[in-house]
Amino acid sequence: MLENKTGIVFGVANQRSLAWSITESLASAGAELAVTYQDTRFEKKIKKMAGESLEKEPLTILCDVTDEKQVDRLTQTLENSFGKLDFMVHSIAFAGKEELEGAFINTSRDGFLKAMEISAYSLVSLSRALLPLLKEGGSIVTLTYLGSSRVIPNYNVMGVAKAALEAIVRYLASDLGPRRIRVNALSPGPVNTLSARGIKGFTGFLEQVDQKTALGQNISGREVGDTALFLCSDLSRGITGEVIYVDAGYNIMGL
Ligand code: NAP
Repeated sequence: MLENKTGIVFGVANQRSLAWSITESLASAGAELAVTYQDTRFEKKIKKMAGESLEKEPLTILCDVTDEKQVDRLTQTLENSFGKLDFMVHSIAFAGKEELEGAFINTSRDGFLKAMEISAYSLVSLSRALLPLLKEGGSIVTLTYLGSSRVIPNYNVMGVAKAALEAIVRYLASDLGPRRIRVNALSPGPVNTLSARGIKGFTGFLEQVDQKTALGQNISGREVGDTALFLCSDLSRGITGEVIYVDAGYNIMGL
């Protein structure tokens, strides 16, 4: 489905990362890929994982989205290695641990700005940086969460950042539509990842949601990966500016 297509997935920390499940789905469809990681401590493990578990080894690139030099270097590497891009997946979020517990009203100014910069604004800056490579149109996909529109205990500032991210998806979709570049968000249900475990009470939450989904169980990373594959492929060519839930139907339930 993605033969002769090239793309990049931002945000691999480890094997549990949604970015990694997405990478597996995209790679299984034949895409040529680059993946990014932010923490040099994870570098060796990620390179090993990339070399061992995928048929075609992806490029692995260090990229802290708050560092313009690293973003410039990444763009150059992609230009030199691929020459063009067909899709980009943004699977990045951050909020300080202290912001992900207790009352939202106590959100600090610094904590608010950092969460917004990394979790929302980075979609704008990365889309702009990679735009010259999306030469033949393409697909941009980001990951949001239901906490953007409903109050989820302890999700706090991240819910506000996700609301901004979803608005960014609509504005970018309108800006980039004339270039045949589509922009959409996936909204997965809870999955046990490094970031998710940083939210106070996450494990209990996972169990609660499990019983309340329409499908009667939580989702897996690969279900998110396969929906990302659909959004990166031409099968979704008529869809842009949308938030697509991959939550086993949790968001439609009343009680
Ligand atoms: P994850 O594995 O921890 O991925 C989050 C990634 O963001 C990590 O690779 C992290 O890198 C990266 N990141 C943080 N700050 C960064 C920076 N300054 N520059 C570049 N990368 C940075 O957790 P995940 O659950 O897969 O999260 C991926 C996305 O899915 C996030 O947008 C999250 O909000 C969303 N999502 C997750 C769930 C869930 O339940 N897991 C549900 C809905 C939506 P380091 O670890 O190296 O800092």
